[in-house]
Amino acid sequence: MDNQSRFSLAGRTALVTGASSGIGRHIALTLVSAGAAVVLAARRLGQLDETRKTIEEMGGRALCVELDVTDRDSVERGFEIAVAEFGAIDVLVNNAGIADTASFLEMTEEAWSRVVETNLTGVWRVGQVAARIMARQGKGSIINIASALAIGVQKNQANYASAKAGVLQLTRVMAMELGRSGVRVNAIAPGYFQTEINSDFFSSSQGQAYVEKLFPRRLGTLDELDGPILLLASDAGNFITGSVLAVEGGALLKS
Ligand code: NDP
Repeated sequence: MDNQSRFSLAGRTALVTGASSGIGRHIALTLVSAGAAVVLAARRLGQLDETRKTIEEMGGRALCVELDVTDRDSVERGFEIAVAEFGAIDVLVNNAGIADTASFLEMTEEAWSRVVETNLTGVWRVGQVAARIMARQGKGSIINIASALAIGVQKNQANYASAKAGVLQLTRVMAMELGRSGVRVNAIAPGYFQTEINSDFFSSSQGQAYVEKLFPRRLGTLDELDGPILLLASDAGNFITGSVLAVEGGALLKS
């Protein structure tokens, strides 16, 4: 097989959660550019529809499903619609996530629970529904979007960082339990990429100081996630499971 075919997703279907903005929207477009049909999943259908139109203008195929990762019925319904339309789910990108920042002492029960429910339990829930389908198919690739904050430590992120660290260990357990079924499970731990989730942070002096510490003295650009995504989604990554790929410009090497 040549390298172009190895990275190709022609004939494959990918479902991306949180595809209505930021990283998820970008990943959906990247998967389409490699030949996949995509299922765009999130709560805001209007936003998803804009992305669907862009994909169709690119000559790609996309379906929008309203899906809330905190609601099992909604997740199961989303996958049923996707399988009815495309017949299979080859790739899941478990990307939906939120942040609700506060110091450890000031964080509310509500902020803790909401972030853990979306960012950790949501990944487990969507992963379980997808993996049951993929195990029946005898193949599939699940990519969990964690964060460099799952590894490095930063103030005011107790809920977010704990949930994302949980995603890394969940990824390894899923990889171990699903490996014999032909399902690979990996995580990507991105550093900061400016999107809706963190726009307040980068207008603060703490955010500007953070950027200054990075080796390239700039944030990542979304297309710098394309290589890792295509590697893990495609046959190029067939021998990779249970791995965490940090995409953060060396941020984790800095104190
Ligand atoms: P955005 O806020 O731009 O996007 C978050 C996405 O998650 C939206 O599409 C939103 O869609 C979706 N979402 C949130 N809650 C739910 C829910 N309950 N059910 C379904 N979808 C939901 O953030 P980013 O693009 O920046 O973040 C994407 C992922 O990348 C997150 O997991 C984030 O933690 C992670 N990440 C981001 C980094 C960054 O620097 N930006 C760095 C490291 C990790 P909708 O509201 O329509 O449901």
